[in-house]
Amino acid sequence: MGGTLEGTTGLILGVANKRSVAWACAKALHREGQKVILTYASDRLEAGVRKLAEELECELVLPCDVTIPEQMDELVEAIREKYGFLDTMLHGVAYAKREELKGTYLDTSREGYQLAHEISAYSLPALARRLIPLMKDRKGSIVTLTYLGSERVIPNYNIMGVAKAALEASVRYLAHDLGPMGIRVNAISAGPIRTLSASGIEGFSAILDKIADTAPLRRNITSDEVGDTCAFLAGQMSRGITGSTVYVDAGYHIMGL
Ligand code: NAD
Repeated sequence: MGGTLEGTTGLILGVANKRSVAWACAKALHREGQKVILTYASDRLEAGVRKLAEELECELVLPCDVTIPEQMDELVEAIREKYGFLDTMLHGVAYAKREELKGTYLDTSREGYQLAHEISAYSLPALARRLIPLMKDRKGSIVTLTYLGSERVIPNYNIMGVAKAALEASVRYLAHDLGPMGIRVNAISAGPIRTLSASGIEGFSAILDKIADTAPLRRNITSDEVGDTCAFLAGQMSRGITGSTVYVDAGYHIMGL
């Protein structure tokens, strides 16, 4: 039986290990029949990502540090050579200095502010622009990952919340720019999940406890639930949706107290 994404190709950025939310997205896209391309951000991560890639029979596994424009160019060129087109891009990339994910936002350094924005927000339009020629005749779908800290104050999330606000605004502006080419752009606002990045946020366990106690579903979410929403946003079942932030957070975002 063919999946909903049979005959399509997707690029997944942001797999560091098997806990990565991007890995759950890659698995869901592959399950639906998509050919998946993975990237790794540094040499240190290459072996681990290549091993995971075998599970999904990936034909392309490429380096991509989004602070290096040449690597983004080479990535896009390699996809063009191998497939000639692209249907999905899952952007699961974010970074902030560990020392800025605790204490006050007030103390954010200029360098830390710029770095968080370059990696976590600017990389979305930087990649989207490069991918237009591959995605434009394919009813392409771009999906990024965000968090409630963009719109509410989550203590310690600090600079990452401000960068996520820029990311979500970018989703709206990109949806407007790319809509005439048939390319959709959406964000998934995921509830907290224990990952490498999350471990850098001070007090993360307390956030998980709070969600389990108070979210409408009275539990935390799994990365597979994010993966399934990613597959939905990648496919034609969501063809009328663009510029949106879709919450996969057990309903926590509706709460006032
Ligand atoms: P993760 O650490 O597994 O993933 C973050 C990824 O960003 C890693 O693969 C890392 O290699 C990559 N990255 C960092 N700097 C990079 C660079 N310069 N170039 C390319 N890639 C770079 O953690 P995660 O929690 O799976 O995070 C994935 C996304 O999900 C992030 O955007 C994160 O903000 C978002 N998110 C996570 C949670 C959560 O609680 N874990 C909740 C909501 C949203």
